[in-house]
Amino acid sequence: MIAVLHNPSGTIRLLCEVPHCPRTRGRRKGETEIQDGERWICGDHWRLVSRSMKAIYRRARRRAASGKGSWEAAHRLWMRCRREAIEIAVGIKS
Ligand SMILES: [Zn+2]
Repeated sequence: MIAVLHNPSGTIRLLCEVPHCPRTRGRRKGETEIQDGERWICGDHWRLVSRSMKAIYRRARRRAASGKGSWEAAHRLWMRCRREAIEIAVGIKS
């Protein structure tokens, strides 16, 4: 799935990764241009992810930022958060 929307104006917006979610976001202040392969989940859907899963992900991100862990590990955990959000959103999981 390509989670990127190209506007007629030439700017790029990220689409929420949850299927059929209409939400998009543009580049955030202070951020460089949206990268190819960048992924995003909107706030409404991020809220569906369990607190424990998000805590595990946040810890991995802190570890990566401080050089104790890898960004790959943090990304893998983000992908688990994403799966959880999608499974709940489409009704596979409650
Ligand atoms: Zn969404």
